[in-house]
Amino acid sequence: MSLFNYIITKTVPLLPKWFSKPFAKPYVAGETVDEALLTVSKINQKGFRATLDILGEHVTSTDLAYKITEQYCQLYHRIDDEQLNCTLSVKPTHIGLNISYFEALKNMKLIARKAKELHNFLRIDMENSNFTDQTFEILKDCKKNYNDIGVALQAYLYRSIEDINNLATPNFNARICKGIYKEKPSIAYNNKHDIQKNFILMAKSMAEKGAFAGYATHDQELIDELLDWIKTEDIPSELFEFQVLYGVPMGDRLENLIKDGYKVRVYVPFGPDWFDYSIRRLKENPNIATYVLKNLLKP
Ligand SMILES: Cc1cc2nc3c(=O)[nH]c(=O)nc-3n(C[C@H](O)[C@H](O)[C@H](O)COP(=O)(O)OP(=O)(O)OC[C@H]3O[C@@H](n4cnc5c(N)ncnc54)[C@H](O)[C@@H]3O)c2cc1C
Repeated sequence: MSLFNYIITKTVPLLPKWFSKPFAKPYVAGETVDEALLTVSKINQKGFRATLDILGEHVTSTDLAYKITEQYCQLYHRIDDEQLNCTLSVKPTHIGLNISYFEALKNMKLIARKAKELHNFLRIDMENSNFTDQTFEILKDCKKNYNDIGVALQAYLYRSIEDINNLATPNFNARICKGIYKEKPSIAYNNKHDIQKNFILMAKSMAEKGAFAGYATHDQELIDELLDWIKTEDIPSELFEFQVLYGVPMGDRLENLIKDGYKVRVYVPFGPDWFDYSIRRLKENPNIATYVLKNLLKP
């Protein structure tokens, strides 16, 4: 990391929010629903699918959890009205899992019912390992009545292959990602190579079971490996898509994937709680500091 990027990464979180906004901008599609939908519409015009996420997590008030639930339900209506190619992604602790399992289940069912009513899809994001079992339980319970719902699996967890063995059927739909939380070595791989290896194993296992997988990664090496396997084994295109986070620089990789006929979905976070999320992104990729400053200084 260059000294400049190091300094920016350390100081931006300490500065006032108005100053940090330019650093957040590449990763967050604004604070309002209108801004988010405009971003989705532009993404769709370029041939990408999208999924929207209202930023926030670890809600401890039932009123707020319900308010967020209602916002998600309203979003499905707006997506439908504007005929966007866009699903929704929800963090269980954003709609009550920190309060109780039943609070989160009740709210997730409301969102899943709306997804069904409007022929859309609901993705349940996976949070830290304290919530993994409960998240799968919520998924199973919702699936009894609502089919268009899926979950995320983390390749850094040793358990994930076993989870696929237990859950995957042609009716199962999961995003595979490396995992973003700090987990103990007793339950998670912590070196890049092991995580990549497990990611590929999981992708193969999902395909063998006829389950749909979203390959959520910006790791070019991993994408290359996935593409080699997809081509060699002739994996049916209905069984997978690539997924990326809005704003993470990928060169022309995504456009090339689209040109080659692959499906790519962009995960688009938005909402008033943009600050913490963006600071996390900046810390993960300090090069973004140079990139943002270059854009700011453009005439
Ligand atoms: C669509 C999508 C959904 C996700 N959902 C979840 C989830 O539900 N639960 C969960 O635990 N994790 C989730 N993640 C995060 C994921 O687990 C990884 O932590 C994250 O994607 C980084 O891993 P990577 O595979 O991109 O590889 P890395 O090797 O970490 O990254 C490859 C390169 O991409 C760049 N990069 C990667 N991520 C970022 C970033 N966030 N900001 C800026 N630059 C970046 C870096 O330059 C890095 O060198 C999701 C990721 C994506 C793309």
